[in-house]
Formats: sequence, structure tokens, C-alpha cells
Amino acid sequence: MDSKAAADRVLTGLDDIRSELEAFHRDLHAHPELSHQEHRTAARVAEHLEGWGYEVCAGVGGTGVVGVLAGGDEPAVLLRADMDALPVREDTGLPYASTVTATDASGREVPVAHACGHDLHVTCLLGAARLMAAGRGPWQGALVVLFQPAEETGDGADRMLADGLTDRVPRPGVAFAQHVLPYPAGWVGTRAGSFLSAADNLTVTLHGRGAHGSAPQAAIDPVVMAAMTVVRLQTIVSRELAATRPAVVTVGSIQSGSSANVIPDSAELLINVRTYDEDSRQRVLDDVRRIVRAECDASGATREPDFEPGGRFPPTVNDEAVTAEVAAAFTARFGQRAVTAEPQSASEDFSRLPDAFGVPYTYWGIGCVDPRTYRTAQRRGTIAQDVPVNHSGRFAPVVQPTLDTGVSALVTAALTRLRPPADGKT
Ligand code: ZN
Ligand code: ZN
Repeated sequence: MDSKAAADRVLTGLDDIRSELEAFHRDLHAHPELSHQEHRTAARVAEHLEGWGYEVCAGVGGTGVVGVLAGGDEPAVLLRADMDALPVREDTGLPYASTVTATDASGREVPVAHACGHDLHVTCLLGAARLMAAGRGPWQGALVVLFQPAEETGDGADRMLADGLTDRVPRPGVAFAQHVLPYPAGWVGTRAGSFLSAADNLTVTLHGRGAHGSAPQAAIDPVVMAAMTVVRLQTIVSRELAATRPAVVTVGSIQSGSSANVIPDSAELLINVRTYDEDSRQRVLDDVRRIVRAECDASGATREPDFEPGGRFPPTVNDEAVTAEVAAAFTARFGQRAVTAEPQSASEDFSRLPDAFGVPYTYWGIGCVDPRTYRTAQRRGTIAQDVPVNHSGRFAPVVQPTLDTGVSALVTAALTRLRPPADGKT
């Protein structure tokens, strides 16, 4: 039996579980939880996995859950979903919209919504986990299903790794993950190589010397230093990187002083850097530091600037061979709905998991917008205005065919690796 036939056989069970999966999704959507607070979600996931015969590790890195179906000597396949929601007020008008509020990490009461679609990721992976457990006949090997906390804050995968993940589950041969994106539902987009950008935040403090506003000769003006720095930082992308290496350097905040007649002591810049590979990332971060230091020198600053790295996301660079294999399986399953995706300027921490195991991965997108809405907006040239994107309070994925597609994609990808037994032995 080939992989496609084996996946077909596993997926015949989808008809029987579809309405249950849809109900699970509605419940999850109505009960979103912030990053690191995914207790209810994790408990429900763990309970289901145990019921289907998975060996379950719960509380990994806080609220992470890993289920293992052991078997065979083949390297395992790891499938990952993220579980957290966002501090966003839901404005979708859906009958199962969230009205939940929660206390965030800084102690503020905030609205919470699954505005990034992680409720769909959890539901799709649970669906795939159930079908794979029930369809144990047509495949062999080990399956690891991993439900990760805190993707939005960029530290969920790291926390699971710091909690000994790599020693607690079988080492996979490959890892897969997917994300809903604002494309027509039914669409499945793969991309070999760079797919999602890396993101780095940096707080930079420039030290000058304060003085009376009337006495610039007594000061080292941090406002001018900051202004020159912001302008010069624009030359990294325009003058230092090859045109084939996309990157973004944004100064999102510039703060200094509070009065017209006082030259302040210091200035603070908040800088966000997006790159698509580790080389470019290092290069841009080095360039930022070099330019900041040089502008401080140019102003005659007597104290070195301070650099404080903030949250960071690694780049998502899909393995060429694994992606080609999965893309071919998707084309066989989804036909014209399987496409090559454009690189996305969003970021993810998924790649930390396969990187920690030292194994290749591929990460793909699945569409979730009503195809008619999408086509109408496309015809009018109003996609940006009419199609709500992830993180918007109006982000309202259509449940079908998104769920069916996500479950099918996970099973199809897993079966490219979990070698079906030879004919006659099923
Ligand atoms: Zn998100
Ligand atoms: Zn997301």
C-alpha cells in the first residue's frame, strides 16, 4: 500500500468524527486562554489523547501536552499545534464568539480571543491524532502529537525544551506544523526554504549629557543623536543588503525628554528587525549595533549606548526535500487547491522544536476565508480592507472546509513518513 492509499484509509474516519470536532472547536473558540494560561485547553487535549491510547506527558514547560503513539523502529513523526489566544476583543459576531476576559502577565484585565486561529490548529491536530490512533492498521512507526503553549509570546517552544522535552519523547525524524492564513478556505500553501521571517526586538538607550535648552555647547544632545540614528538605520535595508534579501528595520518608538527648554540626558529607541535567514539576521543586528555606536561617537557621547534584546522569533526555513515530498502528497490529495505559498512576514517559534532535535521540518499554511468573500474582494482589489487578517478582532475563519483540510493535511503529511506495511499485512 502506498502512502496516499494509507492516508485515504485513515481519512475515511473523518466523516464519523466531523460533527464532534466542530463542536470541540466551537467550545474552544468560546473559551480562549492567554499564553502560558492554557490550562483548560491542555486538560481537554490530554484527556482525549489518553482516551485514544496515547501515552501523554502533560505540564511540559507549563501547559504543554505531548501524546505519543509508540511503534516500530522507524523515526517518529512530530505534529505540532499551538494553543494560546490573544489579548484581543472579539468582534466577529459569531454565535460562539468569546466574551472571556483574563488577567495578563502584567496584571491587567484584558479581553481574550482566538484571533490567530490556534483553536483551529488544536482541533485539526486532535482530529488527526484520533484518526491516526483509530487507523493503526495502514501505517507503522511512532507518532508524536505536540500541543504547544505560548506561541504568541515567542517562548512556548523554549519553555517545553527547557523542561526536558527532547528527553521525554522519542526523537522524531521530521516535524510538521500548519497555520491558518487569510486565503480561501480549502487552499493549502507550501513553500521550500524561507517561509516566515525571524523577528527581533531591541531596546537601545543612547546616553548624552543634559543641559539648559539655551546652552547646547554644554550638552551632548541625545535627541539629535536619536534622530540621526533613526535616519541612518534606514540605510541597512536600502544600502547594505542585497535586493534578493528582504528585511525590515522599524523604529517603533523614540522617547526622549519632556520639555522644550531642557536638553535631556538620554533617548530610548525600540527597534524591530525582520529577516528571513540566520545570515541576514546576524548581519542586520550587527549593522544596527554598529550604526548606533557610530552615531554616538559622531555626537561625542562619553558613554557607550545600552542594547537590551527583547522578544525574538527564529526564522522558519522549510527543508527543501521534506517540503517537496509533502507538496507532492498535497497535490495528490488536494489537486489545484495545493499551491506554492508566498513568504509571510509573520513569525513563529515552531522551528525551535525541530532545531532542538536536529531534524528537518516543513510548515505550511491553510486558507480559512470564505472563498466567495475572498474572490469578490480579489475582483474589487479590496483584499486588504475586506478580508480580516490574523490578530484582528474580526478574524473569523470559516470552519469548513478549513477543519477538514487541516486534518487531511496533517494525516497526509504524516503518512509520507510513517511507512505503510507491505501489501497483505494490514
Ligand atoms: Zn498570532
Ligand atoms: Zn498564530
